[in-house]
Amino acid sequence: MSIDLLSLTPDAARAALGQWLAQRGEAPYRVRQLFRRWWQRPVARWAEATDLPDSLRTALDAAFPLRRLMLRTHQVSRDGTEKFLWALEDGEAIESVLIPEGKRRTLCISSQAGCALGCIFCATGRMGFRRNLSAREIAGQVRELIMRDPALKPTNIVFMGMGEPLLNWDAVDTTLTILNQPDGLGGGIGARHITLSTVGILPNLAKFARRPEQFRLAVSLHAPNATLRRELMPIEKKYTLPELMDALKQFRRRVTLEYVLIGGMNDSLETADQLAKLARPLEALVNLLPLHPGGAPDLTPSSRAHMLAFERRLKQHGVAAVLRRSRGLDISAACGQLRVEVEGAMRGRSKVRAEEHAHIE
Ligand code: SAH
Ligand code: SF4
Repeated sequence: MSIDLLSLTPDAARAALGQWLAQRGEAPYRVRQLFRRWWQRPVARWAEATDLPDSLRTALDAAFPLRRLMLRTHQVSRDGTEKFLWALEDGEAIESVLIPEGKRRTLCISSQAGCALGCIFCATGRMGFRRNLSAREIAGQVRELIMRDPALKPTNIVFMGMGEPLLNWDAVDTTLTILNQPDGLGGGIGARHITLSTVGILPNLAKFARRPEQFRLAVSLHAPNATLRRELMPIEKKYTLPELMDALKQFRRRVTLEYVLIGGMNDSLETADQLAKLARPLEALVNLLPLHPGGAPDLTPSSRAHMLAFERRLKQHGVAAVLRRSRGLDISAACGQLRVEVEGAMRGRSKVRAEEHAHIE
């Protein structure tokens, strides 16, 4: 029986490997030597760990096969944003987006294939839920990148790709450890540089809040009152805005509130006033996001003038607000868009317009 080391926390993986090596009568230093090779300085297969004897590599392949994500599509946007569509072993597909900005390289990773929550503006939501990802498949998105080029190691990770991370808590919990520990991915990424984004699955939000590391939290709010939020996000029926706000007041660290601006729906100045009332007591940062296509077809982005006025209004109320630029629009870099586009093209319903992309691998 083989063990998936890549789905274990570094401690659990070290224990499993140590036991196996001891049974084979290998020298104790081998644990340390091998341990670095799947997260810290990752090899794609044990055969690549040429500092090991042949017989050990063959035995490792049988006992602890290192499984991969296969790159199906790679696109580079005119603004430098890169999008990766990975094929999983069962044929599912997930996305990661790499966003360079000055010295930062932020990687947006997926935690589920599809999503069950059906927010009306979201391409992943429209696709529905396919399945949870394992820790190997979540952290693997970063591992694959480092294996392509160690210089590509992201400085920041955001759980803002496909899926709701707090509906796949066990795997996400393990992944946070793998990403953050110094003996984890590429030598570890600081907790303050790892952000989990959620609509607010309250029982698991409490579990996330109990972790001692300073991971960052972003909450997808999108509406400042329950009536409007219910129209945009079905989850509002289960975990309501007042309960969510109470939970955020308990959270000891500063929270970011995410707010996609949808023309004529949630972008009026009165709505901004309501949002300010929620954000100010939390001292939250409000991230205003232009709507990307891919959600319900009748939704339109707010005009630039509306977005600027909305941002200004929040600031007048003393709320820290940032209007984000759209990144990678030409490569459909919002969550779920690429998979929808590629599958649509395969079914002949829509075309991937290759000429629009700076580069397709
Ligand atoms: N399920 C989690 C994390 C993945 S979605 C969540 O909803 O927070 C990550 C972010 O992408 C969310 O803030 C979501 O609202 C945003 N998003 C989804 N569809 C979008 C679209 N069409 N345009 C802009 N942002 C979108
Ligand atoms: Fe799921 Fe997040 Fe998309 Fe909503 S916005 S459908 S929670 S991935």
